[in-house]
Amino acid sequence: MSDVKILESVQQFIARHHGHFIHGECVATETSERIELVNPATEHVIASIATADQQDVEKAVQSAHNAFSNAWANTSPYERGLKLNKLADLVEQHAEELAQLETLTTGKLINLSRHLEVAQSIIFLRYFAGWATKINGQTMQPSIPSMHGEKYSAYTVRQPVGVVAGIVPWNFSLMIGIWKIGSALTTGCTIVLKPSEFTTLSLLRLAELAIEAGIPAGVINVVTGKGETGQYLIDSALVKKVSFTGSVPTGIAIGQQAMKNDLTRVSLELGGKNAAAILADVNIDEILPNLLQATFVHQGQVCAAPERFFIHQSKYDEFVQKASAVVQQLKIGSPLDEMTMFGPLSNRPHFEKVKHYLDLAQRNNQVITGGNALQTTGYFVEPTLLKVQGIDDPLFLEETFGPVVDVIAFETDEELITMMNHSRFGLTASVWTNDLAKAMRLIPQIEAGSIWVNMHTFLDPAVPFGGVKASGVGREFSDA
Ligand code: NDP
Repeated sequence: MSDVKILESVQQFIARHHGHFIHGECVATETSERIELVNPATEHVIASIATADQQDVEKAVQSAHNAFSNAWANTSPYERGLKLNKLADLVEQHAEELAQLETLTTGKLINLSRHLEVAQSIIFLRYFAGWATKINGQTMQPSIPSMHGEKYSAYTVRQPVGVVAGIVPWNFSLMIGIWKIGSALTTGCTIVLKPSEFTTLSLLRLAELAIEAGIPAGVINVVTGKGETGQYLIDSALVKKVSFTGSVPTGIAIGQQAMKNDLTRVSLELGGKNAAAILADVNIDEILPNLLQATFVHQGQVCAAPERFFIHQSKYDEFVQKASAVVQQLKIGSPLDEMTMFGPLSNRPHFEKVKHYLDLAQRNNQVITGGNALQTTGYFVEPTLLKVQGIDDPLFLEETFGPVVDVIAFETDEELITMMNHSRFGLTASVWTNDLAKAMRLIPQIEAGSIWVNMHTFLDPAVPFGGVKASGVGREFSDA
């Protein structure tokens, strides 16, 4: 097989001189500094984007503030829902274009861009559209008499807070950007998005589609740039809520900054070192396809994916032998080739970070299978299974955010729970077993925001998502 043909519309979009998207149009930046976007599979520069300074950011926030006060907050919920649904229709019509933009900038397999990133973005947009007409306050029955014994009544009103800053990581820019847009717009808020400097194109294109969908100018703005651009955004006095998805260190810094800025509301969706527990009763052949798919999807660059496998010791040798055989057969190659099963990492700094962990594992003789960066063009590494040197091993404790997984034996349930919870993170976990009663006993003991049984890394807009411990504050999706 060969690479899919890049659409004419994608080539034309990439070739543009990109600015920020402010008040419904592409706006030239105040600074001349530009950032090159590199295709991680070929290392070719494919486009350059603008860097927003404080003035650019203020323009975008002012536009969002005006759109909030003059238009969006007063739009009827029915109208808001219609427009979000219209945007979902347009994303569907432009699905291949958006999928190709994502693959070219993130190295995500084209089928994953099509069937997960874009397909899920449409599902989430329609889910959020449905909420617009269903957000209500409550009336309350007084529980005690007032001072003078009169009866009184009380009610709550849900009001939009104003401008939201949506800060998005590079792994699923379109989908995570849409999570932030969907929840802001359905509630009557407006948004300024700051995508990662590595993957901005799909959100710039989405902002144009939003105008086509009839969403007024200024309701969705996009400023591009590095971390500094994100800082200007959080510091803007007109930003009333920060919705951040990214790493723990950046999340903590953003949370502290938001608190200093008169307690700006903040939700933080951060990293994980997620555990999958494989109990003694499972049939390894039955669970392996789903477990390994959930683990190595997008080369492990998925916040919810497992990085630690805990295997009951009676199944450890069988698991290692069979899992290694499957992992070694994953066909590594161009993400634009529909037959490829495993593509490159998304950018050079992340490639260097994952290589650091692989080198550490190689030095300490911990590699079970994989463990190498490929000697080729592009940011390719092998999918890797490792042994760890106890629970204080950095490879056990630190998030690699790559295709690097620890395989650890356990004997008793107590030992399993102690090791699973020995982590600063608490994003997701899974238990693989046919013994549902046992799974139900283990689940409340596991410190994680989402815990699946016989599946992992499955997100549903109707189910709240978010971490405990250092994995985050707040929840996305549902009515949470
Ligand atoms: P980062 O924390 O490095 O960056 C996230 C976003 O924040 C990017 O847009 C980045 O811009 C921006 N940023 C960086 N510094 C600042 C700052 N000081 N102020 C404001 N914004 C800033 O994370 P990554 O992009 O590397 O993403 C990977 C991490 O995200 C992993 O830890 C992963 O687990 C986590 N993640 C969590 C998810 C969840 O739902 N819990 C989902 C997906 C990822 P720039 O890229 O330009 O530096």
